[in-house]
Amino acid sequence: MKIQNITIIGAGTMGHGIAYSAAVSGFNATITDTSADRLKLAMLHIETALEKGVSRNKLTPDEAKATRERITTSSSLEDAAGTAQLVIEAVPENLELKQGIFRSLEEFTDSECILASNTSSLSITSIASAISNPERVIGLHFFNPVPAMKLVEVVWGKKTSQKTLNAATEFVAALNKTSITVKDSPGFASSRLGVILGLEAMRMLEQGVATAEDIDTAMELGYNHPIGPLKLTDLVGLDVRLAIADHLYATFGQDTYAAPQILRDYVKTGKLGKKSGKGFYKWD
Ligand code: NAD
Repeated sequence: MKIQNITIIGAGTMGHGIAYSAAVSGFNATITDTSADRLKLAMLHIETALEKGVSRNKLTPDEAKATRERITTSSSLEDAAGTAQLVIEAVPENLELKQGIFRSLEEFTDSECILASNTSSLSITSIASAISNPERVIGLHFFNPVPAMKLVEVVWGKKTSQKTLNAATEFVAALNKTSITVKDSPGFASSRLGVILGLEAMRMLEQGVATAEDIDTAMELGYNHPIGPLKLTDLVGLDVRLAIADHLYATFGQDTYAAPQILRDYVKTGKLGKKSGKGFYKWD
């Protein structure tokens, strides 16, 4: 089945970025969310990104207009998913929540429709176990900010079919992004390594080893990372990072994944990073 209509579930940091990237590449993208405010905010972010694309000569005004016209929103999962050939779920990192959504998708989508999760760490096999035809479930792990980041991890669950894998890989190529294929394993190839760096940077900050700026500069200038681990955590969202760390700690049982107190405290007090205006840095 040719992929033309994509439904994105969750209009947050990742959802609106995925919708933007898909629409820029010619796909029709419908975003759905339980929060009307998040849907509105997502469209504002998309419109700002389109304006920036035009002012930086990355898009012509006509391309921006056509991209905008390919994106719609819906508050109904059933309406949003009914005509999709590919659904990408991007709701918070919680297995039961994701499984519940996949159960609804089984009811609302065509049996050929590919069901993907943008999870950063959860098992694709476990998410897929919620439905009766798990061969059409796959992980499509995008990176933040989606339009700028070239990598997508394609995560192959125990029951994912070769046909689903091929279609998902072709979709990533059509977005002009690079895919790597990873066996379903906690944190895949990226989060399993990247989260350790972020958590260790937080432990160093807690211990007063250096300021957040200097810890980040150590990695940026000393190791040539494009962005330091604390600033990256602010972009990802501290709540998102905490959920991933807790899952990896529960799965691997290794102290390297134990969330530092500073992370728990910041999340408890609403310091979630860029999206809330404050994390390890202040954001406008
Ligand atoms: P977010 O908190 O910014 O957005 C989640 C959205 O899901 C919210 O708008 C929320 O209203 C919506 N939502 C909650 N329950 C819903 C439901 N039942 N139906 C529809 N919408 C619902 O989260 P995010 O940062 O976009 O992360 C989403 C997923 O992507 C997570 O699995 C996360 O691990 C993964 N991820 C995040 C990043 C990152 O940098 N933030 C990177 C890669 C992958």
